[in-house]
Amino acid sequence: MSFEGELQRIKDEIIHNIPSDIIVKKVEFEGPEIAVYSENSNVELVENSEVLKDLAKIMRKRVVFRWNVDKRKDPNETEGYIRNLVGEEAEVSSIEFDHTRGEVIIESGKPGLVIGKKGVNLKEIRSNTFWQPKTIRTPPLNSKTIQLIRGMLQKERQSQKDILLRIGKRIHRPILFKDLDIRLTSLGGFREVGRSCILMQTRDSNILLDVGLNVGNNNDKFPGFDIPEFSIRDLDAVIVTHAHLDHCGMVPFLYKYGYRGPVYSTLPTRNLSTMLQLDFVQICEKEATPLPYSKRDVRNTVLHTIPLSWGKVTDIAPDIKLTLHNSGHILGSSMIHLHFGKGGYNFVYTGDFKYQKTRLLEKAAVKFPRVETLLIEATYGGPQDRIPSRQDSERELRQILIATIKRGGKILIPVLAVGRAQELIIVLEELISKGLIDKVPIFLDGLISEATAIHTAHPDYLSSDLREKILHQGKNPFLSDFFTTVSTPEEREEVLTGGPCIILATSGMLIGGPSVQYLKGMAEDKNNSLIFVSYQVNGTLGSRIQKGWREFQYIDSRGRTQLVKINLNVFTLEGFSGHSSRSQISQFLRRIQPRPKLVITNHGEESKCVSLSTMIHKKLRKATKSPKNRETISLR
Ligand SMILES: [Zn+2]
Repeated sequence: MSFEGELQRIKDEIIHNIPSDIIVKKVEFEGPEIAVYSENSNVELVENSEVLKDLAKIMRKRVVFRWNVDKRKDPNETEGYIRNLVGEEAEVSSIEFDHTRGEVIIESGKPGLVIGKKGVNLKEIRSNTFWQPKTIRTPPLNSKTIQLIRGMLQKERQSQKDILLRIGKRIHRPILFKDLDIRLTSLGGFREVGRSCILMQTRDSNILLDVGLNVGNNNDKFPGFDIPEFSIRDLDAVIVTHAHLDHCGMVPFLYKYGYRGPVYSTLPTRNLSTMLQLDFVQICEKEATPLPYSKRDVRNTVLHTIPLSWGKVTDIAPDIKLTLHNSGHILGSSMIHLHFGKGGYNFVYTGDFKYQKTRLLEKAAVKFPRVETLLIEATYGGPQDRIPSRQDSERELRQILIATIKRGGKILIPVLAVGRAQELIIVLEELISKGLIDKVPIFLDGLISEATAIHTAHPDYLSSDLREKILHQGKNPFLSDFFTTVSTPEEREEVLTGGPCIILATSGMLIGGPSVQYLKGMAEDKNNSLIFVSYQVNGTLGSRIQKGWREFQYIDSRGRTQLVKINLNVFTLEGFSGHSSRSQISQFLRRIQPRPKLVITNHGEESKCVSLSTMIHKKLRKATKSPKNRETISLR
């Protein structure tokens, strides 16, 4: 069937299944959704979600209604009307318009007042302005990244609409091949940690899961795009599990080389990835290393990103549906569930996952509609990888802090800006406010504060306990005045010459950035402590120090080589990890519903991928595979 024919068929089906008094003017593809334009003044139907739900069930597609597009009031007039209606007490901080969706987004300190009793204000806004109101709470911290992204999207309103139309047409193209021939090709991150990238292919479609870069290895930094299976022109979609650079760092590179299709991820993942990609460009510029992509490519990535929430089934290719599920690793991190064909084949990719509740997040999902093949990470998949419990690690952290502060030392904790940093902020805030350690200053350096601001903008993605604390008890650990943000060399010098303190700084693996600056100033004093709380990729300075190196070299500003002796105390507290331990992986595999038939391992050093795969085969009696990079596996 032709494209126009398919659209007409969809239109007829919609008209057939909705109340007859609704006049359908136009049906259009809008990215993965079907937008129905109607002129009726009867806007009540939008609220009557049963109609929408039934329609989604029958059509097996996501349908949205756009009402009275021509009647929409002028945005300025609408803004004035809303401010007047809800009053100053609602503390409205911004009003923005999404012209594609016909939504007016009202950000305020008191969303309850914007909504009004039983939603009375929302009804008023809808029927008087013909905009669909959406309320959000003003985040307590201001994120520069979110502001920047909003600015980009506002400015490129029309091109975003065109992008969605084009993507929609491509998704809903007719299927050419009947038989499901599903292949997985490992482009990066197999038997290694870094540059995660997986190509999933059917005869009709091509999809990339994660497009990462390797931060610890200069030889194999990028995924193997040069294999014959991969062609950027045929790519339908990119799905990003989470915002760490080894999973999202190379997405803008695809836009540099002409990709114009969509990126699917959660909203926090989009915001955090953008922050880290822009930072990566800046670091490359500063260090005068070749840029794999520019800021323009990052902007293009933002314009082509379609945010999805967990649990929403979405068409991403004519024969593939995508659903994201919580993976418990960092804010917004997701597992990917792909459904191929009509009732055909199901595939789950865990990405980085934590099968244990943390202070920050709920534990990873285990229930899926169906799973035939599971691709699982093996970061801690080796037999020796027993991660101590959270309680033990928190106890040990407290002891190290007490002892170091007592002898007048400083504590350096290198962290990734996203994930462990926020987890530790919550733990440290509690230790001090409960009087369990002395109150010393805690300095945050690098992107940590900006990443934390993004966390406060997405309370829906935080653990239920933390959300309850923030929203209902008014106790937000991220706003505590125990923490001071450091950003200039002068401030850093002050921290280094000052008294006992705790420093959280990026990069998390000591491959550059402020954490290395602090280490240079602190390494020789045996009163100080260095604590690793996250995975150290092979080849990084962090990994070397963990393995026992007690000196390191660097080139100073005058070009002279300096040797630094490492006399400070070095500790590793694995219990804070955002990855599952070997036993948590086993638990996950025992509880996953339904049971997969084939389990593939990736994202782990060679020995760990192989060892985990052997264990799963022996103990759980499953077919397993542990492919190398650049291998293709036929799934069906
Ligand atoms: Zn990660």
